[in-house]
Amino acid sequence: MFSQDHTRLGGISQEGTLRTVRALEEAGLTSPFEREALNHVAERYAIAVTSHIADLIDPQDINDPIARQFVPSAGELAIAPDELTDPIGDETHSPVKGIVHRYPDRVLLKALHACPVYCRFCFRREQVGPGGAVLSEDELDMAIAYIRSNPAIWEVILTGGDPLMLSPRRLGRILDALDAIPHVATLRIHSRVPIAEPARIGPALLAVLARRKPLWIAIHANHPRELTDAARAACRRLTQTGATLLGQTVLLRGVNDDPTTLETLFRAMVMERIKPYYLHHPDLAPGTAHFRLPIARGQAIMRALRGRLSGLAQPTYVLDIPGGAGKVPIGPNMVEAGGVRDSADQLHSYGQLSD
Ligand SMILES: *Cc1c(COP(=O)(O)O)cnc(C)c1O
Repeated sequence: MFSQDHTRLGGISQEGTLRTVRALEEAGLTSPFEREALNHVAERYAIAVTSHIADLIDPQDINDPIARQFVPSAGELAIAPDELTDPIGDETHSPVKGIVHRYPDRVLLKALHACPVYCRFCFRREQVGPGGAVLSEDELDMAIAYIRSNPAIWEVILTGGDPLMLSPRRLGRILDALDAIPHVATLRIHSRVPIAEPARIGPALLAVLARRKPLWIAIHANHPRELTDAARAACRRLTQTGATLLGQTVLLRGVNDDPTTLETLFRAMVMERIKPYYLHHPDLAPGTAHFRLPIARGQAIMRALRGRLSGLAQPTYVLDIPGGAGKVPIGPNMVEAGGVRDSADQLHSYGQLSD
C-alpha cells in the first residue's frame, strides 16, 4: 500500500524504524501467534516504531504503556458501529487541499501525511502513512494563497502528518511564506518528533525554526516514560530557538488513565518548560474502542488532579465533537459531581451559572 521509499524521508535516514509485522516480530515486540491478524491490520493502517521508541518498550510486560500506543494489536480489526473514518470532520471544513478552516481566526495546514511513528489511536489514521502524499508545490502554493487571501486568519497551525518530518529546506520555505503574510500573527507546529525521534531535532531543523513570528510547538506525549533524556534534550534545543512549548496528551485506557501517571507526566512537562495545553478525550477513530473510556472517568481523573497539582501543570480536558462541531472543554465537572456544591449554589444566587 505504501510503496514510496520512505527510509530517507526528510533527507534524514530512518533506518532502524520497524515498519512491518515481520520486523516487529523479529524485534520481539509481537508474537507469531498474532501474525495473521496483524498482517490484516497492516494492510489497513501504517506501522512505524522508531528505534528510540522500541528501546523504551519492555517486551516482557504485556501491558506496557509504550507498546500499547505504537505496536499494532488485533483489537484494531474490531470496528465499532459508532466509529468514523473522519471522526472530527476535517473534510467538511477543507476549502482547499491541505487546509482545514473550522474556526475563523486559525487554520490547519497539513503539508504531509508521514509521521515518525504511527499511534494506534490516531484520529487521522485513515489519512496518514509513510507513502501518503506530501502536498505538491502547486497545492502548497494554493494552500498558502488561501491563507494570504483571508485576513481573518491570525494563526497557522502546521500539522499533518508530522511537520517536523519535512526536510528542513521545505519546512523553511513554508515558514518563510507564512512569515511574509502580514495578517498571520503567530505560527504553531504539532509534533511527535521530539518524543519519537529526538535525534531529528538537529542544527538544520533548529535553524529554520528560529523565526520572526512567535512560534508555539505542541509536543504530543502521553506517558512520563516518553520524556527520555534524549527527548528532554531535544525539547531544550527547541526552546533555545525562542519557541514556546506546549504539551498535548490523549487520555488512553491502559496507558495513562490514572491520576498518578498523569501527574508525573504533567509535572515532568513543566520541568522541561512545556505547558500542558490539552488533554484530549480519545476520538471515535476506527478500531480504537480498546483505548476509549467513559467521559465521567476522565472527569474524575481531572478532579483528582485539581487539588493536588499546580495550575501550571493542568491541561484543559477537551472532547472534539464528532462530525466537525469543534473542541469543547468537558472537565473536571466539579459542580455536577457535588465537589463544590456550596460554591455552585452561591454562584447560582449571583446569577453567574445557569443550568
Ligand atoms: C484543534 C483544532 C484547531 C486548534 O484549536 P485550538 O483550540 O486553538 O488549539 C484548529 N483547527 C482545527 C480544525 C482543529 O481541529
